[in-house]
Amino acid sequence: MSLSLSADQPAVPAVADDGVWLECIECGETFAPFDDVRYTCDECGGLLEVRYADLPTFDDFEGEGQGVWRYADALPFDAGVSIQEGATPLYEVPRLEDDIGVEALRIKHEGMNPTGSFKDRGMTVGVKVAKELGVGRLACASTGNTSAALAAYGSRGGMETLVLLPAGKVAAGKIAQASLHGARILEVDGNFDACLDIVQELAGRGEAYLLNSLNPFRLEGQKTIGLEILEGFLADYDTVPDRIVLPVGNAGNTSALYKAFRELVQAGALEAEDVPKLTGVQADGAAPMVEAIENGADEVRRWDDVETRATAIRIGNPVNAPKALPGIRETGGTAVSVSDEEITEAQRDLAGEGIGVEPASAASVAGLRKLRADGIVDDDERVACLTTGHLLKDPDAAAAAGSDPEPVPADTEGVLEHLQE
Ligand SMILES: *Cc1c(COP(=O)(O)O)cnc(C)c1O
Ligand SMILES: [Zn+2]
Repeated sequence: MSLSLSADQPAVPAVADDGVWLECIECGETFAPFDDVRYTCDECGGLLEVRYADLPTFDDFEGEGQGVWRYADALPFDAGVSIQEGATPLYEVPRLEDDIGVEALRIKHEGMNPTGSFKDRGMTVGVKVAKELGVGRLACASTGNTSAALAAYGSRGGMETLVLLPAGKVAAGKIAQASLHGARILEVDGNFDACLDIVQELAGRGEAYLLNSLNPFRLEGQKTIGLEILEGFLADYDTVPDRIVLPVGNAGNTSALYKAFRELVQAGALEAEDVPKLTGVQADGAAPMVEAIENGADEVRRWDDVETRATAIRIGNPVNAPKALPGIRETGGTAVSVSDEEITEAQRDLAGEGIGVEPASAASVAGLRKLRADGIVDDDERVACLTTGHLLKDPDAAAAAGSDPEPVPADTEGVLEHLQE
């Protein structure tokens, strides 16, 4: 099957353009990459993947670009619509590492991207494709960060953007970003999954170019998270991590990281047995992927009612599940859900190491703590946790998780007195 870890080389179809094509993960049908607007397979409706005739090894990444574009050899273009995304920190967290009890723990903080989430890595590629295709209007459904990134990259590319958000369920920082970067913001009286249903129909009718992670090109940019983590571990520990723990919403990142690793295996740059175990974390109130992994199911059951403080992963119908489930299974990983309280506790733990993240991001650390406590993660593992978005994205959640301001009088004696209380 095409989504396994194998060193087999693909046959290059006639539709390939400069060694790049689109391929259906279900039926194998191939399509030219930039001739038509297409998000899913014409034949069977399956998800599409970008495929390459030539895949790079680590040596090939010493290119001229920076951040995401240092990995141009693993991407469909040499350059995108860029605001210098990628090259995010891989923080050491010695206290947390000790406390959770693993051999090594590093935090890949994607909140340090231009708009404060990993979505930028996908948009630099996706908006470039939109320009290649010559489409006019860009659109996405979003729990917030996709809209912030699309608004910024769309305006950078000089294009019109439309974002559909679940009313009342998007963190303040994210709406502010979409607003200032000039997107038209449509607040939908429904949840994220309803927004995505609508935007898919709009895209199907040719009203807009869809930039949700259903768009296979976005996942290409997001592969670079995995490449950066591997290079970081190779530099510091001389080995790739045993496990990568990440929050799961639509499972785009899970799919993208798995694809990055499959391509390295195919290029002969990584052994299949060394591929990090992809470990997904969801909130208890929105955990359809966890349910599917636990039940050994081939398909994810859509959850109609989802709820969690981690609004970025408040998703009941993860569209990339057919790509992500094999990723978790083939790498020997797992999926786990955590409570909102555990998420907030992990948010405080990270803050205690100087790392400010939004609630969804902290789910990775909360999940690792739980899996370690349950003995599913061993004490000799080297682990990378992905934190997907910045603290300032959701200032209300941060304020609620942190300490309250204390009123004091406007004189030194009064302040000293208060401090001694
Ligand atoms: C989009 C997003 C997620 C979910 O990522 P998927 O790739 O859809 O699984 C998690 N955390 C944050 C902060 C996000 O913005
Ligand atoms: Zn198909």
